[in-house]
Amino acid sequence: MEWPFDHTQFRIFMNGDRIALFLPLQGATRSRVMTTDPAARDGTAPAGPLTLPELQAALREAMRVPVTLSEPVWTTRYKAHLRQVERYRVGRAFLVGDAAHIHSPAGGQGMNTGLQDAANLAWKLAAVLRTGADDALLDTYHDERHPVGEQLLRFTDRLYKVAADLHGWRASLRDAVGPFLLGRMSAMPAPHRKAFRRLSQIGLAYKPGAFTVNERLYSLKGPHAGHRAPDARIGTGRQMFDLLQGYQLHVVAISRRHLDDGEIAELTAQLHSIEAFGGRIATHLVGRVAGRRDERVEHVDSVDVFERYGLPHEDSQALFVVRPDGYVAWRMDDIDFDACRRFLAGLHGGLAAACEARRRAPALTP
Ligand SMILES: Cc1cc2nc3c(=O)[nH]c(=O)nc-3n(C[C@H](O)[C@H](O)[C@H](O)COP(=O)(O)OP(=O)(O)OC[C@H]3O[C@@H](n4cnc5c(N)ncnc54)[C@H](O)[C@@H]3O)c2cc1C
Repeated sequence: MEWPFDHTQFRIFMNGDRIALFLPLQGATRSRVMTTDPAARDGTAPAGPLTLPELQAALREAMRVPVTLSEPVWTTRYKAHLRQVERYRVGRAFLVGDAAHIHSPAGGQGMNTGLQDAANLAWKLAAVLRTGADDALLDTYHDERHPVGEQLLRFTDRLYKVAADLHGWRASLRDAVGPFLLGRMSAMPAPHRKAFRRLSQIGLAYKPGAFTVNERLYSLKGPHAGHRAPDARIGTGRQMFDLLQGYQLHVVAISRRHLDDGEIAELTAQLHSIEAFGGRIATHLVGRVAGRRDERVEHVDSVDVFERYGLPHEDSQALFVVRPDGYVAWRMDDIDFDACRRFLAGLHGGLAAACEARRRAPALTP
């Protein structure tokens, strides 16, 4: 596309009935452009394939600058739908992605939502089929993801209506104040942060239930069961996300209280017994050590991980089960491996393996 602007920045143009987007693609030699078609509203839009002269004229009208298009890779007419299925699961059939929810592309949410649907469902299928978890775990896919889809349809519809579905004096008002307001808001940290959390979808949380449990909560801070496990600094060059790698369950014991050698040995043995549960479970011990460095412990050198994970006092300890999709499945503001094993037996199945692990686990200190 030849035009008076650069090819590196995302730009939005508003001119009455016409909205246009310019999206630079990597390398900046090609770009993606889109525009709304007001004729589609009253059904007078041409039906055939979209031609380059037609698109060029529409972009010139929306952008009010000379635009020349050439060598198209792909051109298409696109109609925004707004639909969602009632059930994401019926028996052995599951729907994810656009098959389950379809909406306007405003906000760029569709692909990310579909990927999160899949990440939410896949480990549950594996837990039921491979390690014998209860079939009811599969119902939580609908329970967790359907409300997200519903909210998404409302959000993208509102965004689309404000951005692209105004006409007459409302469109003129939007054209006059929209760019100013958007510019001001995106420069303010609070709205910027809020918009980022919304659009990146990292602020989503699921409700507690049979497979999402807060067992013993002393602190309201940090991620509760159903919240996304956040990143946090553990030590120099070591982050929580370095531990929560791979699409698998993680059990994380965190101790703000300094651990002595005996406690480290016992906690490590308990964590190993959980690894023997069957299926892939990674375990981690994160904390402070009373004596010299110990390779069995992820050494903490700042309070960041304690603050982000809700360990407010110098003697706080906590145990977390983090799901493969990055959400906290279980939290206890204490370290009780028996309770953790009981929870895992329901979430992950592997009951036989659990019994075996329990038999082999060292005796717990009271
Ligand atoms: C213009 C536009 C811009 C967008 N921008 C963004 C964005 O910036 N960010 C974002 O997150 N999302 C965006 N989206 C949404 C995103 O593209 C979709 O949400 C995503 O591609 C959906 O993926 P999916 O795998 O669920 O479905 P699809 O990508 O539709 O894949 C379904 C596949 O199944 C195939 N298929 C259908 N029927 C059959 C059959 N009977 N047998 C075999 N195969 C079949 C289809 O051919 C297709 O390949 C945008 C969408 C549009 C239209």
